[in-house]
Amino acid sequence: MDDDRNRNVNIVILGSTGSIGSSTLNVIAENSGKFSLNLLTANSNDERLLDQCKNFCPKYAYMADQAASKRLRQKIIKENLTTEVLTEEKDLHEIIASDDTELVVAAMVGVAGLDTVITSIVNGKRLLLANKESYVVAGEYLNSLADKHNATIFPLDSEHSAIHQCLAGIKNKADVSKILLTGSGGPFLHTNPDLLKNITAKEATSHPIWKMGKKISVDSSTLINKGLELIEARWLFDIEDIEIVIHPEGIIHSMVELNDNSVIAQLSTPDMKIPIAYGLGYPFRISSGSKRLDLAEQGPLNFFRPDFKKFPCLNLAKEAMECGGNAPAAINAANEEAVAAFLDNRIGYLDIYKIIASVMDKIEISVVKSIQDIYETDNSSREYAIQKIKAL
Ligand code: NAD
Ligand code: MG
Repeated sequence: MDDDRNRNVNIVILGSTGSIGSSTLNVIAENSGKFSLNLLTANSNDERLLDQCKNFCPKYAYMADQAASKRLRQKIIKENLTTEVLTEEKDLHEIIASDDTELVVAAMVGVAGLDTVITSIVNGKRLLLANKESYVVAGEYLNSLADKHNATIFPLDSEHSAIHQCLAGIKNKADVSKILLTGSGGPFLHTNPDLLKNITAKEATSHPIWKMGKKISVDSSTLINKGLELIEARWLFDIEDIEIVIHPEGIIHSMVELNDNSVIAQLSTPDMKIPIAYGLGYPFRISSGSKRLDLAEQGPLNFFRPDFKKFPCLNLAKEAMECGGNAPAAINAANEEAVAAFLDNRIGYLDIYKIIASVMDKIEISVVKSIQDIYETDNSSREYAIQKIKAL
């Protein structure tokens, strides 16, 4: 068993330059000798990827943006680094699929990550999933694919990691009556609803508890993130009764209620390095390098019910989960387009809801028979959202 604990694990990080990717590298640095890096990928930040290549010496690197990829290649040659920069998308998939890759951390943002998530699963990898969008749109399909190919889908989202930890000590799943999914409530929890229309991108991306990428920060502020997490939890744990509890301090990361009304919770300081370390080390516990929780120092913990009227995006996501079929793919695509437009100052804050609602009204909800159906819904929902954004 101790040999297993000390065994070196060769990993791929998709989206290594982002918030989750960088935290993953921090956990890896904290556990020196335990992990090797086969591949790091990013979209366009070649300077940060170069730094990561210097510090972590991955065997391969890949950038989605061709111009950035070229710059990275030149800098790597100049610096005499050993990392090989892959230029072809097919090579990216080949390295993910190769026997050398044992574990894949999916830390890229958006449904653009779906094809690499599928490659990881089809090749039986252990997939640590932060990229919730891929799983929200295709959870049922990805679960069946994972069963078929003996792959594991392991949650990195803090709430789902907490639920995983709460469930770990329960012998019979039938003993679980409910999941209590917590959320901080975002930066506008106590903001007067009349003031929401003037919210700027800067305000929406300043989360009180978590430091995250821009897209998920906006999602947290509209509470659609909690709605996406509802769908994510539904697919990960196959438990239908899920209640959302607003907990602004972000100390309890979620809970599980049992048939005897006992409730099990997972607590820690709000630091993504903890769920990342849980996923990387599982079934062992490795160092996360995070701050220890001092409850007396922390002070009171508060809990509220979510305000569905003030945060209507949450309702839309809940409805999409209940509808099933291609509805989660439609809401995700509409949200990705609306948030990108808001961050770009093309639409106002409250327009995010309007765009998503109009897409959900327009799209025909249907059963998903293949992954192609998901891609088609994603495309048509985006096209319609873009039209609506232009028309505003
Ligand atoms: P981020 O914006 O900080 O980082 C995104 C990463 O994805 C970057 O490395 C970027 O280069 C890469 N990327 C973007 N488009 C790409 C493309 N087309 N091809 C390859 N790489 C691409 O985002 P983040 O906050 O780290 O979030 C990443 C994912 O994790 C999201 O799905 C988010 O919902 C989820 N998540 C994040 C947190 C958090 O605390 N940040 C918590 C839970 C879940
Ligand atoms: Mg979360």
